[in-house]
Amino acid sequence: MTGTIPRDHDERDHDEAAFPDDLIPWQRPLRAMFPIITGHPDLVYLDSAATAQKPQAVLQAVETYLTTANANAGRGTYPWANASTELVERTREQIKSFLSDPDPERSTVHFTSGTTEGLRTVAQDWLPAFLTDGDEIVVPFADHQANLIPWLDARKVLEAQGIGIRIRELPYQTSSGDYDPDALARAVGPRTRFVAATHVHHVYGADMNVQRIRAAVGPDVVICLDAAQSMGHLPVSVAGLDVDFVAFSGHKALALPGSGAVWARQTRGPRFVPGGWSGTPNTTGIASLAAALDWLREAGTDRIERWTTALALRLTDGLRHLGAYEILGCQRSLALDSRIQHRCGIVTFRHRGIGASDLGFILFSHGFMVRTDGHCQGSAGEKTSSVRVSTHVYNTPEEIDRLLAVLATLE
Ligand code: PLP
Repeated sequence: MTGTIPRDHDERDHDEAAFPDDLIPWQRPLRAMFPIITGHPDLVYLDSAATAQKPQAVLQAVETYLTTANANAGRGTYPWANASTELVERTREQIKSFLSDPDPERSTVHFTSGTTEGLRTVAQDWLPAFLTDGDEIVVPFADHQANLIPWLDARKVLEAQGIGIRIRELPYQTSSGDYDPDALARAVGPRTRFVAATHVHHVYGADMNVQRIRAAVGPDVVICLDAAQSMGHLPVSVAGLDVDFVAFSGHKALALPGSGAVWARQTRGPRFVPGGWSGTPNTTGIASLAAALDWLREAGTDRIERWTTALALRLTDGLRHLGAYEILGCQRSLALDSRIQHRCGIVTFRHRGIGASDLGFILFSHGFMVRTDGHCQGSAGEKTSSVRVSTHVYNTPEEIDRLLAVLATLE
């Protein structure tokens, strides 16, 4: 791809905001389960794409683990050590089930500190053994750099061994803001072995429609998914998406930092056996992840998706009436009834006259916490900084309306 991403300013077919009111009785008690949210009624946290807040159940699980069973996993034989080992093994199975793994006997879960380490582990410990001289891989250049740099580094490692691989860009389509399956099908050749993709774009909020990749690339190509922005926000089904690797960060899915994982389907290419001795597992983080996944299952990721998408649409709908702001990403997806694309709880914008960090300071003076900068986008991403508003289950339409009211005063 050349230039920056998905932009189509010509089509704007908007409707008025319709909030899914049926979800309000469902959301209210869930919001009350987040102590940091209820404990700060004057603040509005709108930076969940960076890291999410934790419900009481997760905090409680951490305390329970640390006060009843804290020990090293996989080493001792006394009850606390066994409980810790069981926690790690049980959480592996829980992750498979959460991802709707249709064949858990033939998949593995490797715990990591997050998505970055997960993707890097695939790039370092698996990809080089899979590729031979002349092979091609396809990767995104305008998504998060955690899903670009490891693949570029793998090429360097292979080059040093005398193995040349070609990296192609995963094509985006400007008319809808997701990946372009037709352009991908044209780009795929007999030497294409691997595609890295992102489930939900961390700047534009677009669902990248990765379920269309398999048909475009055929049955033998390995697909690796960055699920940093989808895990905990919407259903992630490895069966539905037909992918081979999924990397995610626990801290964005209501668990503690340092508690991510890579799920690997062990049916294409060499087995994924992360090399090196990784030492003591992050059992506290894993305890938090187990509790977070239970909480999310109970709450329903399908409803969380509807809720956060509705919040994002409410924000874009309000912003498009304010001439001072430019919303990044595909403009057609701003339509409330858009069947083309929707934003999964993330909206990023610029003020035409006020810099992003200044706007961030102004917004915080009104209690709003948002992300401001270039958002770690890959080399083909936006070149100037912007303000990202990202939501989770604890945010409310009233918070979005208050934010819009403040933004309106800066027109
Ligand atoms: N991929 C995407 C799409 C992200 O949004 C992020 C973080 O914002 C990452 C990867 C990296 O996640 P982490 O810093 O938890 O490793």
